[in-house]
Amino acid sequence: MLNKVEHIGIAVKNLERSNSLFAKLVGKPHYKVEKVESEHVATSFFMLGETKIELLEATSPDSAIAKFIEKKGEGIHHIAYDVDDIHAEMERLRNEGFELIHQEPKKGADNKLICFLHPKSTNGILIELCQEIK
Ligand code: ZN
Repeated sequence: MLNKVEHIGIAVKNLERSNSLFAKLVGKPHYKVEKVESEHVATSFFMLGETKIELLEATSPDSAIAKFIEKKGEGIHHIAYDVDDIHAEMERLRNEGFELIHQEPKKGADNKLICFLHPKSTNGILIELCQEIK
């Protein structure tokens, strides 16, 4: 079962500029900036109640974020759902016929184990599962 929406990922061209834009939008500054070297992204997070906004900037032209922006421009990139047991959810969703982009969870930003579902199996939405690493 998927729990709450943990965060919404937004692809941006310039993290610094978007950090100040979103600080004005939500009324408070981001609480962390984190690079995820394996994904070639720099991220920042804003907390809004129980949900976060994750801004993502490509740090390399090979980054999925660079390719996304090239194709679609800036905007909503993924929706992330909190799960209690990512291995069990991956197994459940695989059995339900969803296509997982990777077959094992990866270490993501913000102290999470993550896995993405392919948008072609989810009505065009890139979905991230994330489990807090305790
Ligand atoms: Zn995310």
